[in-house]
Amino acid sequence: MRATADTLRRLISAIVKKGGSAAAEADQVAEHLVRANLMGHDSHGVGMIPTYVRHLKAGLVVPNTRAKVVKDDGALLMFDGGRGYGRPVAGQAMDAAIARCRESGVVAMGLANAHHIGRVGAYGELASAAGLVSMHFVNVTDHRATVAPFRGTDARFVTNPVCIAVPGTDRHAPLLLDMATSQVAMGKIRVAKNEGKPAPEGALIDAAGRPTRDPNVMYSEPHGALVPFGGHKGYALAVMTELLATALTGGPSIQPGNQRMGGVVNNMFTVLVDPGRLAGVDWLRREIDGFIDYVKASPPVDPKLPVLVPGEPERIAQAERDRTGIEVDATTWAEIVDAATTVGLTRAEVATLST
Ligand code: NAD
Repeated sequence: MRATADTLRRLISAIVKKGGSAAAEADQVAEHLVRANLMGHDSHGVGMIPTYVRHLKAGLVVPNTRAKVVKDDGALLMFDGGRGYGRPVAGQAMDAAIARCRESGVVAMGLANAHHIGRVGAYGELASAAGLVSMHFVNVTDHRATVAPFRGTDARFVTNPVCIAVPGTDRHAPLLLDMATSQVAMGKIRVAKNEGKPAPEGALIDAAGRPTRDPNVMYSEPHGALVPFGGHKGYALAVMTELLATALTGGPSIQPGNQRMGGVVNNMFTVLVDPGRLAGVDWLRREIDGFIDYVKASPPVDPKLPVLVPGEPERIAQAERDRTGIEVDATTWAEIVDAATTVGLTRAEVATLST
């Protein structure tokens, strides 16, 4: 089915609210998921809500949790997310880090034990909207590993996303690198499975370590695995991301000495820098304008596919989906309706909310 963003916001917010969240939290979670769909990342959109409801029922996400300050020491901030919904607790931690960065010029912030924080780019966008540069290193744990190490044949870590955000200029929108360190995000395998399509080429291995395009290897025993992007380099970045996101934040890595309860826990290490306190904003803008113009002027291989910069594909997707709405495949839609009834909405209420 095709739905407008408003319809999906209304439905998802109602589900989260019925699950025990205050209205403001429910709206924030819904907005975060729908915006991921609008930006072309269905992997982190409304299709996550059945997982969230499953975690809610198991006590693995705790509604109405605020990020708790663990350390407040000048430019160093640490928070514990207490398994609260990821968007609200990571948003609170980011707001505090941004305010501090305006005073100190640089901040290192750790957030441990948040439930799924979703599209990490959302936190980079908070920083660039405040005129700051940010870097985010995130690990994913509390459930089985899904990504195999380079040269390995079984999964030993998860999709460990990395995000780097740089503010824009009068001529250029903010730059936003926001990516899983696996060849594709796990949610893209879920979307392929639900749509009955093959997984992207080169994204998966089966339980014997052989390349496969069957998304079902991630959902049945013995499990296959995702592979890191970019061979040994992506793998190396994933390892460092796991360590930054955990060793510095106090959050658990996926090593077997730590508990896995079957939920999703994200830990995030963030560095914020005020460019005005280093080379200056005028210099930053001059270099962004000059460099981005230069890069984008490279003659494209295919004239219909011009050179883009990080963040641009998401803006293009959003312009298109703002106009045409968001496509939700039948399996995902059925799972969302089931999730709604699990928290106590009737099918009639779901039908009213989705028209
Ligand atoms: P992706 O592969 O679609 O895109 C990654 C990045 O590449 C983006 O910054 C995009 O702007 C850039 N890009 C894409 N095409 C480009 C082009 N032609 N030119 C220049 N830049 C281009 O993203 P992904 O790796 O599938 O990740 C999807 C989402 O999943 C991200 O939002 C990420 O934060 C999220 N994620 C979250 C978790 C979690 O546990 N919370 C885990 C993994 C991934």
